[in-house]
Amino acid sequence: VEVRRGGGGHGRKLWVLVFPLPFQGHINPMLHLAGALHGRGGLSVTVLHTRINAIDPSRYPEFAFVEVPDGIPPEVAATGTVVDAILAMNAALEVSPSFRDVLASAVDGAEGRPPAACLIIDANLLAAQKVAAGLGLPTLVLRTGSAASLCCYLAYPILLQKGYLPPKESQLYEPVKELPPLRVRDLFYSSDTNQEKARETLANITETVRNSNGMVINTFDKLEPAELKRIRDELNNDIVVVLAAGPFHKVSSINNGSSMNLQPDQSCIEWLDTQATGSVLYVSFGSLASLDSNEFLEVACGLESSGQPFLWVVRPDLVRGLNRVCLPDGYEQAVEGRGKMIRWAPQQEVLAHRAVGGFWTHNGWNSTLESISEGVPMICQPQFADQMLNTRYVKAVWGVGFELEGNLERGKIKKAIRRLMVEKAGTKIREHAKELKNKVEGCLESSGSSQIAIEKLVNYIISLQ
Ligand code: UDP
Repeated sequence: VEVRRGGGGHGRKLWVLVFPLPFQGHINPMLHLAGALHGRGGLSVTVLHTRINAIDPSRYPEFAFVEVPDGIPPEVAATGTVVDAILAMNAALEVSPSFRDVLASAVDGAEGRPPAACLIIDANLLAAQKVAAGLGLPTLVLRTGSAASLCCYLAYPILLQKGYLPPKESQLYEPVKELPPLRVRDLFYSSDTNQEKARETLANITETVRNSNGMVINTFDKLEPAELKRIRDELNNDIVVVLAAGPFHKVSSINNGSSMNLQPDQSCIEWLDTQATGSVLYVSFGSLASLDSNEFLEVACGLESSGQPFLWVVRPDLVRGLNRVCLPDGYEQAVEGRGKMIRWAPQQEVLAHRAVGGFWTHNGWNSTLESISEGVPMICQPQFADQMLNTRYVKAVWGVGFELEGNLERGKIKKAIRRLMVEKAGTKIREHAKELKNKVEGCLESSGSSQIAIEKLVNYIISLQ
């Protein structure tokens, strides 16, 4: 097994393997968690990564890297859904001799090292958990989503049984009594994903969690107290530790923001420096969500007519079916000085910038938590997976944003932006966002809940060796 060292090496005795699911929203939190662990208790980290969305080892000199097969067929990588990719990857890993070899050599403790203490896996990688268990290597799970979304996945069989799913048009706004404050439309469901595959993927997540020794979730105690309690009560007999140690990017020693394919455009920070405090709307729909060409036009025109400064992440693949984007004639001149478009942002830095006063987001969990961490209120436009659920919490539980519902239309967009950023109607939301940021700061203090959770995690890892 070839180990490529970023420079950190394995001089220290205690070490762990980490294996993220190879998608942006999963790689980032895993690397941040690895950064939080690195060095504590003399711990070093080896990152398992795949050819698909490979991580560049030279960017992370503190870690060692080993490539493992992903087993995702090229046609699935090119056109399949994330669910298809996850299922293909699990099917391949379970029987892959080279993957087994990588774990076996970690268990043997090659190169004069003791055996690795454990493997930390993304919750989607059930096959990795099984192979590790077969070799006697303990696993810990990283949940990159919220505690609330995990509650929903744990309850999924009951939700199916009770007929909430598949959702009926007439019942979308009815409450899901088992999971307040969710309504039927907030549940994990995607009309363009085969439901049997979605069910299998969620069942795999809960099985991975139940089969592992412990779990660490990218959330913090004061953000989701009821949901964390529910998970701890429910998993009490299965796993030893359930730790809320997030936001990982705030407890971590590493900086990470670049996409697998795109470099963050740092020029936007200089541009933000020229803008008034709290005036800029940051607009980004994450690494996967997309718009059709008409929606794209409405967003562009809505941003223009809002009169508000904006920074908009326009990924080359943002518009479905096209690999380039087409703005209306004269658009860039019309918004010059007030609107900036970039292909990829250093998002965590952007949200922390004093000029940013609002975030129009698809509510992927990382984006949601990054926004909460900086006290930035949100316009929510969820598309799939756990995004609707995150939006529901943003609005109904934390009161730090509201949803832009229905068709995207420029007049509606303009109104929403003005409400979020300047009008009296948005005052409460802006205040709540600041209050929630204070709670984040509390959990990050030296005796704060997330710092304690990281310490507990390190101690638990030491106990496994
Ligand atoms: N991100 C970034 N620059 C961008 C857009 C996104 O660095 O221009 C990062 C963002 O900070 C977050 C991740 O990409 O950590 C996206 O994860 P999220 O869970 O929000 O959404 P996903 O891409 O998984 O749908």
